Amino acid sequence: MAPGGYFGRALVVDAGSGTSSVLPLDEEVLRGYLGGAGLGTWLMHRLAPPGADPLGAQAPLAFVFSPLVGTPLTTSAKFAVVAKSPLTGMLNDALSSSHFAISGKLTGHDAIVVRGACDRPSALLIDGDGARLADAADLWGLPAAHAEQRLRERLGRGWRAAAIGPAGEAQVRYATISHDGRHAGRGGLGAVLGAKRVKAVAVRAATKVAPADPGAVLAAARDLRARSFGPATAKYRELGTLANLLAFNAISALPTRNFQAATFAGAPRLAAEELAGLRTVARNSCASCTIGCEHIYAGGGRKMRVEYENVFALGPMCGVSDPDAVLAASGLCDELGLDTISAGGTIAWAMECAERGLIDAPWLRFGDADALMRALAEIGAREGLGDLLAEGSRRAAEQVGGDAAEFAPHVKGLELPGYEPRTMHAMALGLAVNSRGADHNRSGAYEADLSGDLDRFAGGDAQVAAAIETEDRAAVMDSLVLCKFLRGVFREPFEEWAALLSAVTGWDADGAELRRTARRIVLAKRVFNIREGWQPGDDWLPERLLSQPVETSSGRVAALAPERLRAMISGYYAARGLDAEGRPAPADLAGLGLR
Ligand code: SF4
Repeated sequence: MAPGGYFGRALVVDAGSGTSSVLPLDEEVLRGYLGGAGLGTWLMHRLAPPGADPLGAQAPLAFVFSPLVGTPLTTSAKFAVVAKSPLTGMLNDALSSSHFAISGKLTGHDAIVVRGACDRPSALLIDGDGARLADAADLWGLPAAHAEQRLRERLGRGWRAAAIGPAGEAQVRYATISHDGRHAGRGGLGAVLGAKRVKAVAVRAATKVAPADPGAVLAAARDLRARSFGPATAKYRELGTLANLLAFNAISALPTRNFQAATFAGAPRLAAEELAGLRTVARNSCASCTIGCEHIYAGGGRKMRVEYENVFALGPMCGVSDPDAVLAASGLCDELGLDTISAGGTIAWAMECAERGLIDAPWLRFGDADALMRALAEIGAREGLGDLLAEGSRRAAEQVGGDAAEFAPHVKGLELPGYEPRTMHAMALGLAVNSRGADHNRSGAYEADLSGDLDRFAGGDAQVAAAIETEDRAAVMDSLVLCKFLRGVFREPFEEWAALLSAVTGWDADGAELRRTARRIVLAKRVFNIREGWQPGDDWLPERLLSQPVETSSGRVAALAPERLRAMISGYYAARGLDAEGRPAPADLAGLGLR
């Protein structure tokens, strides 16, 4: 019998035939990898053929749930989508939220894996009767939200769907998978579904799952709910993550015009403090969430959820300061199903290429809102210059040649988020070594830079320790799965997460066990990447960030010397028990429980 909160099985569906089989998940696997990103990593080791093309039929893509899904614990209605990324060629997990997580899990599975490919646009339906394919020709070409709505109207009550937009259909390498307006955003997993011609996966609950100790879970849920209204989440409730924009600008950490500057004169026009009064139309939250961080804005004729990252990427990164234009661009990304960070990063790189004469696109200039909208539309359809930009900045730079690769803003192919590594050295390390590539959700080392407890212009043991600690915390939160915006309410996070896990599963987990679990998951991701061709040089930052200093608002010149980054990486490898090239010892591999 499976532990509380689990079914002990994954459903593996062949999209080519619509047939499915059950993969048993024994307790050792579940306890070792929890769920979400962790269990998804284990599934990719087990099911992904080595070297498979992420956009090929053999590549599996997994929707992975967790033991906490379906409990009253706040922010627990989340799921991970895990596959080999067509953007990075490495392991990618992207999280999304809400009812799909609950209904998907209550189909009776801890994960739903899709492999194979359909011969025509289809929707994959899964409920208590198993899996089957339905024609989706009429949904092809629609934005994900429209496809989801139409599919639910057709299927009837109780169905929930995750869908791709036109960019996923066109196999843009940074296309998203969306559910209820939330996106499994990074790494191009929408392109993986698009390559399978699966427009949507729809799920309907068919069963129930009970926690081992319902009383303890209820008490924990009440306690966590109360704490979720406290000061640790106030920023997210009041202004949302866009509150970071002015703060980052003030400390010269706001990447601007493709990392040519770290401050943006137009930042005040885009600030949450400015936008909130004029353009807020609603607040919203994911299912089972008491924080409600979602701030819905109107602008440029569209309504959209606004986060720091989409405003940074489509605003300062592209030199655009018109708030209506940035909101419209963000809304267009939602409609097309594009990761805003990679879209903005790739377009900003292309703007610089165009200004330097490396790309023949005189219409594409920093600060030009019309050019931004045109570039997004062309990317979504893979038309004109968009066919090149749909490949992401790394591949596009390889095609353009010259020195274009030196200022392509990516790590491992994943475009950088809105954190300036030259003024945030702990974050520089986190971005360089993370298995997903340049990402702020898998390494929260920026917290150390922002804490004031260490010098953010220096790199040393403290920065290494911070990068490892935040990476480990992310590994557990992304596997349980709990929202990162809740992280500040936990005083003893690993102990408290272990208590939640124990109440649901009946295990006697403690904080030390979850720390070991975090390290196992981080290492298993690295091992997958090594299997798929990772090289030591992939743990690095773009040349520009290491060779060109950047001026801060105080006039200080900030730089990140390659020697400093190398020293931090070496410290990270040593602390992780890796060899000098970042590879694990054979004895450590044996303890991962991978097959
Ligand atoms: S805090 Fe925001 S992202 Fe997190 S679960 Fe709540 S509404 Fe969703």
